[in-house]
This record gives sequence, structure tokens and C-alpha cells, in this order.
Amino acid sequence: MKRLVLKFGGTSVGSIEKIQKVANIIKKRHEEGNEIIVIVSAMFGVTNDLKKKSNSISKNFDSKELDVLLSSGEQISSSLLSGAIIDLGVKARSWMGWQLPILTDGNHTSSQVINIKTEEILNFISGRGVAVIAGFQGVSSNNRITTLGRGGSDLSAVAVAKFFETDSCEIYTDVEGVLTTDPSIHEKAKKIDKISYEEMLEMSSLGAKVMQPISVQASMINDIPVHVRSVFSEKAGTTIISQSEIDYKKVVTGIAYSKNDAKVTLVGVADKPGVAAAIFEPFEKNNINIDMVIQTAASNGKKTDVTFTVKREDLFKTLKLIEKNNQYLNYQKIIHDDKVSKVSIIGAGMISHPGVVYKMFSALGREQINILAISTSEIKISVLIQEDMTQKAVKTLHKKFELD
Ligand code: ADP
Ligand code: ASP
Ligand code: MG
Repeated sequence: MKRLVLKFGGTSVGSIEKIQKVANIIKKRHEEGNEIIVIVSAMFGVTNDLKKKSNSISKNFDSKELDVLLSSGEQISSSLLSGAIIDLGVKARSWMGWQLPILTDGNHTSSQVINIKTEEILNFISGRGVAVIAGFQGVSSNNRITTLGRGGSDLSAVAVAKFFETDSCEIYTDVEGVLTTDPSIHEKAKKIDKISYEEMLEMSSLGAKVMQPISVQASMINDIPVHVRSVFSEKAGTTIISQSEIDYKKVVTGIAYSKNDAKVTLVGVADKPGVAAAIFEPFEKNNINIDMVIQTAASNGKKTDVTFTVKREDLFKTLKLIEKNNQYLNYQKIIHDDKVSKVSIIGAGMISHPGVVYKMFSALGREQINILAISTSEIKISVLIQEDMTQKAVKTLHKKFELD
């Protein structure tokens, strides 16, 4: 007998028919003799709708109340799913995060799980019940409801795998597994059989929505292999696992993109020590993350252009901070552009293959795709390009790195 955690995302429980389909999958896995703990997300679109409602009251809606509001979607789906399982003649029960409790650090809208009290559920599943836990939510030590960040049911599943010491952690979703790129922009995306924690963390941080980045980090830290698979087929999906268990034949494992960035250029800044620090100092204090940075060499040796990227949602705040700081910076003008996207190639195979940068840049150049900024790490290269070139860039790189 195995103990399994099965997580079903919003796309898998988007309608009553889909909930009934999921109930049947759960029944089947239960009949195989397994102990089952289910994590379920809100029905597709529900969390976004709730967020819109709060926005229409205030863009600064109180974060504690926002957590109460957003977590309510999972109360609906977990009760509907439990009811559907019971209707199939299987014992089931739902739990909200606070009922267990799932104790979090109290960081509203992006909490980490600190502990889960397991006793009640262990009793229930040992009596052949299916436990259904509402994903995405927990409770702080102050007894306030908290949520785990958007896409946070993935983190709920990894946390349950950890605290219940399950034999597997399975993420059921609407695609076959983790694919070489987002299938919604490239029809040639292929399933990856095995991907390392590190690569998956880069993929999801750089835009692959299929797993929440923090959940990948949690699985990496605790060495919990995660299996991503489809609700539509019984085929094996993708295993996210330690790098040592993977034999790298390809240089690039996957390609990700995101449209969350904005580019800012300060034209004509004095080229002297301390200026870069002066530009970026106020950002740190205001929690604004700088991603890519390029400084163009000054032609006359006195003035330089500094380009950097921030999250799109931080653009307005960023421009305000720079303007405030201009007395010291004394730049000639600011240019900004939020119609940009970041396209990244990711692969642990890069470490042992020189020439990847050239291959990437020349492929994009041949397609007349202009590179606006670059950032690299050991296992990824990201380029900033014009947003309308995103799909072309992904397809070009997918082919160039033999992923088609
Ligand atoms: P769920 O509702 O199950 O949590 P998500 O919408 O969060 O599902 O994630 C699945 C979606 O992620 C897919 O439908 C797909 O469009 C998108 N996606 C983006 N990049 C990838 C990728 N590399 N592999 C698989 N899916 C991806
Ligand atoms: N319902 C939450 C969200 O939309 C959590 C999740 O789907 O994983 O972000
Ligand atoms: Mg998701």
C-alpha cells in the first residue's frame, strides 16, 4: 500500500463534468489500494474573478482580507470534489487549511508552510477515507487565513508530501507533463521525461506556468521528486528529480518566455564611480527587483547609457524614484518600454557545451530578432526582445536546439 498526494489544478476542475472526471481518477487510484490525500485548486478562473472584485474596491486592498477572499475558491472546489467522490461510493471528506491546521509563516499573499498537523487525516485515510485538502491556503500563528502565492496549490502538494511522508507527489494538470516549451504558443512542444529541480526552477521562474516556482524550490530543498501528469491520459508524465539521476544528451532542455518585464534606459548618465549604485539604491529600499542590466560604453568617455529591466507592475514606481533621484544622477532623458518579453533557454547540458550563446544569438539574428538585453546563469540564457517577436523567437530556438 502506498500513500499518495494527488494535486488537481484549476484547469482540471473547471466544470462539474471535470470534477466528476477527477473523482473517477481518484476512485481508481484508491481502488488500487493506495492511501490518498488530494489537494485541489479553485475552479478555473475563480481566483482571478475574486481578485478583480477586490481590485474594484481598491488596488491596495488589505492583504489579510485578500487572503480570506482568495482562499474561498478552494472551499467551493474541495467540497464539490469530496461530494463527487462520496457520490461514487467512496468515503471522503474535505478540510480547509485552518482546520488541520496547515501552519504558515503569516506572510500574507505569499506564505510559506511551516508545519502541518497530520493526526486527523492519518486516522481518516487509514480507515479507507479519501482526504481532500483545499490547496493554496493555510493559517498563521495569529489565527489569520493566509495564502501561498498564485499557483500555490502546487506548494500545498509538496508540503503535504513532506509532512505526510508520502510515497509520491503527483501534479495532475491539463497538459501531458512539463513540455519543452509552452504548448499554447508552439505546437511542436514535446514532453520532457525527466527534468532536474534546478532546470525546473529556472523554467518556472522564467515563465513556464506549469509549476509554481516556490513549490519547485520546496521540492528541491526537501528532495521530493514531483510527477507532473495529465488528467486526460494515463501516460507517464514528467518527473522532476535530482540532476544526478539524469543523463544529458541535449544542450537545452526547455524554452520559457514571460511578458512581465519592462525596460528602462537612462540616457546620458555621468560615467563615474558610484553612479550605478546611486541609480539602484532607492529600488532596494522600495522592494523593486532589477533583473537585466546593460551599461553602454560612453563614446566621449564622459556620459553613458544604463538600461535595466524591472517587473512591469513596478514600472510606474521605478520612473517616479528615478525622477526623484535626478538631481544626483543628472541624466539627459529616460526611455521606457513595456512591450518587451524575455525568452530563455534552459538546460544543465549547457555547462559542458561551449558556444551556446553564439548559437542562440546567431539564430535570433538570422530571423531579424533584435536583442535588447541579456542575462545568464550556469544553466540558462535569457534575452529581452520586442514582445511581438516572442512566438517567432521561441519557435526559432526550439528548432535550433533540436527540440522540435
Ligand atoms: P493548473 O490549473 O493545473 O495548475 P496551470 O495553468 O497552472 O495548470 O499550468 C498548466 C499550463 O501551463 C498549461 O496549460 C500550459 O499552457 C502552461 N505551460 C507553460 N509552459 C509550459 C511548459 N513548459 N510545459 C507545460 N505547460 C506549460
Ligand atoms: N487558486 C489559486 C490560484 O489561482 C491557487 C492555484 O490555482 O494553485 O492562484
Ligand atoms: Mg497552476
